Amino acid sequence: MGSAGRGLVLVVEDETAIAELAALYLRRDGFGVAIEADGGNALAAVRRLRPVAVVLDIGLSGMDGIEICRALRAAGDWTPVLFVTARDDELDRLLGLEIGADDYLTKPFSPRELAARVRTVLRRASGGPVSALTCGGVRIDVPGRRVWAGEAEVTLTSTEFDLLAHLLRHPGQVLSRDQLLSSVWGYAAAAGTRTVDVHVAQLRAKLGAHSPIRTVRGIGYAADAG
Ligand code: CA
Repeated sequence: MGSAGRGLVLVVEDETAIAELAALYLRRDGFGVAIEADGGNALAAVRRLRPVAVVLDIGLSGMDGIEICRALRAAGDWTPVLFVTARDDELDRLLGLEIGADDYLTKPFSPRELAARVRTVLRRASGGPVSALTCGGVRIDVPGRRVWAGEAEVTLTSTEFDLLAHLLRHPGQVLSRDQLLSSVWGYAAAAGTRTVDVHVAQLRAKLGAHSPIRTVRGIGYAADAG
C-alpha cells in the first residue's frame, strides 16, 4: 500500500490475480494502490483511506459493487467510481440505474486501459479552464463543478457534468455520439455509443424543463439556447 504522487486508488476486487494486475499498472502510473477483496468491507475502506478514485468490481461477496456505490452516493460521497463488470446482465443493471458511475470497463480488460481510464476520470473530475457557462435556463460554474436548472441547484455525476459542460461549450453545434465519446469519455467508439444516450437521458431527467439538449436524429446531440 502507500500513496504515490497521483494519490491513492482503492481497488475493490475479489479475484486476487485481477486485483494485483490492476494494482501493478496503477502503481506504474504513479498511483498508490490499496486492495479490498470483500464487498462488505469496501465502504469502511473508502471512509478510512479517502482514495482519489475507486475501481469497483460489481460481483463481490458481502455487498455488490452497485450497492456499495449507491451507499457512497447516498452518504454524499462523490469519489469517482470506475466500475468493472464481468457479465452483460450486470452491465444492463448498471446502465439502467442512476447511481453516479463515472465510467465502466468490461472483463476481460487490459490493465493498461484500466489505468488510462482512472487517469481520465480524475482529469475530468478536476474541471476545465472556462469559469461559467449558461444555456437557456441552465448555468454551470465550471471550476466549482456546480449546476443550476432555473433557480434550483442540481447534483450531477462527474460524467454527467462533463457531458453537459462539453455540449454548452459548443452551443448550437451538433455533436455526434462518437465525438462526444472521444471528447468526454476520452476513448473511441469501440466502447459503444449507448453510454452517451444513457447519460443524456439522466441529464434530461435532472434538468427537467430547463434541459437545453436537443436530439438530432441519426447523428447525436446539440445544446440550444432555446
Ligand atoms: Ca468478482
